[in-house]
Amino acid sequence: MKCIFCEIASSNAPSFNIYEDNEIISFLDLNPRSPGHTLVIPKAHYENFSEMTPAIFSAFFSRLQIIAMRVEKALGADGYNLICNNGRAAGQTVFHCHFHIIPRFYDDNLRFKMPILNYDNQKFKSTAELIKNTEL
Ligand code: AMP
Ligand code: ZN
Repeated sequence: MKCIFCEIASSNAPSFNIYEDNEIISFLDLNPRSPGHTLVIPKAHYENFSEMTPAIFSAFFSRLQIIAMRVEKALGADGYNLICNNGRAAGQTVFHCHFHIIPRFYDDNLRFKMPILNYDNQKFKSTAELIKNTEL
């Protein structure tokens, strides 16, 4: 099955583009969660963030920042969320790495609130140790 974001990156599928260069393309999300909801993707296919090559980070994140600032200003937003879902469990549905720029407004009533886990000092300590000691 063809990757829809590869198709967009190669202009073989329609998209409402707002930025494009050799490595990156940015276009409007077809199911906007807020006005101006935008996606930024590397043109090369990486299934998720973990698969992305750090060689592209400098170009990718510098463009992501500029595009996010432009979207925020254009829409007159009060802020924005950057979201990158990785893996089905995290809500990823398109398996070509992408960052969402979701403009936020004080009165938008969007909710990204997650319940807070009840950790004591021991749990914080063991969790920090677990992550620190995990090799890739
Ligand atoms: P995620 O759940 O993080 O994988 O997000 C995938 C996003 O891609 C969703 O918000 C979809 O609305 C969006 N999407 C899927 N197909 C297209 C498309 N052809 N053009 C623009 N956005 C799309
Ligand atoms: Zn792809």
